[in-house]
Amino acid sequence: MQPRRSARLLGAEDYLFSFVDRARALAEAAGADVIPLGVGDCDLPTPPHIVAALRRAAIDPAQHRYPPYEGTSELRHAAARYLRRRFDVGADPDTEVTVTLGSKEAMAHLSLAYLEPGDVALVPDPAYPVYATWARFCGAEVVRMPLREDNGFLPDLSAIPAHVARRAKLLWVSYPNNPTTALATRAFYDELASFCTGYGIVAASDAAYSEIYFDTEPPPSLLEAPGAMECGIEFHSLSKAYNMAGWRVGFAAGTPSIVEALRTVKTHTDSGTFGAVQHAAATALDDTTSGYTDRLRATYRNRTRLLCDGLEAAGLQVLRPRATFYCLVRTPEGMDAEGLAKRLLEEARVLSIPGTGFGPGGEGFVRLTVCADTPVLAEAVRGVGALRW
Ligand SMILES: *Cc1c(COP(=O)(O)O)cnc(C)c1O
Repeated sequence: MQPRRSARLLGAEDYLFSFVDRARALAEAAGADVIPLGVGDCDLPTPPHIVAALRRAAIDPAQHRYPPYEGTSELRHAAARYLRRRFDVGADPDTEVTVTLGSKEAMAHLSLAYLEPGDVALVPDPAYPVYATWARFCGAEVVRMPLREDNGFLPDLSAIPAHVARRAKLLWVSYPNNPTTALATRAFYDELASFCTGYGIVAASDAAYSEIYFDTEPPPSLLEAPGAMECGIEFHSLSKAYNMAGWRVGFAAGTPSIVEALRTVKTHTDSGTFGAVQHAAATALDDTTSGYTDRLRATYRNRTRLLCDGLEAAGLQVLRPRATFYCLVRTPEGMDAEGLAKRLLEEARVLSIPGTGFGPGGEGFVRLTVCADTPVLAEAVRGVGALRW
């Protein structure tokens, strides 16, 4: 007899990206050579100066021991310097910054630190799946905040009923946004901070794409808002800005009591990221001279243009991004998101993600990534160009 899994796990939907992996495997098994524009996993390598910093640190035996639970002092100070330089935010490296294993685990663990049965988690719709899944793992109720195009894909906080807000413990936002590619305004963050302080809600901001923008001002941080250091926490990741997705390193910064709560869960769960990786991450955050991230932004901008121009020429409607490395394609008349994704895969071999994979609010769009080199994107454009809508 097989042991029965917990109700928690039985109720969980399949992780979106594992579903995408299976769709790809099925198509490939059927003999199709799929063009993978589904998962946002950058094809470009980590910059050499960061790899060199890892190499040097990796041979130091002091790095082979357990790192400090809250992260190395070197990386927390580099994170604080980055926040000051980039957003003019002052964060105390000892009490307002903590190192994370990438941001996904830390966002999961923040849920564990705050949510219990009877609580509400306010989650954008559509959104990265981790926020809602972990709220459910904790037995909390997920209340979706629709991201509507006519509101700039920002949640309408005034539409949240007071009786729901009073039960809410966590409110998630993520800008620049995956999957909608929208940016937040400072005015929105100000409103969010005052809403969350008023109701005693943790404002959790996932800033994974804060450095991936083009044709726009650098996106702001929630932590710039008055009051954000009393209710907010922001998750920064090195995965996207420095192509370090496989390294598993990031940091969270914000309100001391919230950082402390997150640290408490993590002390009982993991024992930190390899010290040499933290040294390399500090090198990345302190880099103001290599111009790496500027070149990365230019690369995404060019790729995005190529893909969007091509899809438009093929007769599709595209939302041109100013941030992230995704393009949204509107579903043509009479077709839903899954139908469009299916048609792109079966008839043009292009793997995309239907917006509904991020929640019902993603209906009407599919998401394509530009985490692929220009010849690959050009091939996708040729394939789609042969279809009639
Ligand atoms: C890629 C991504 C992350 C980053 O995850 P890591 O665990 O830091 O690699 C976080 N949030 C969103 C919305 C993402 O798309």
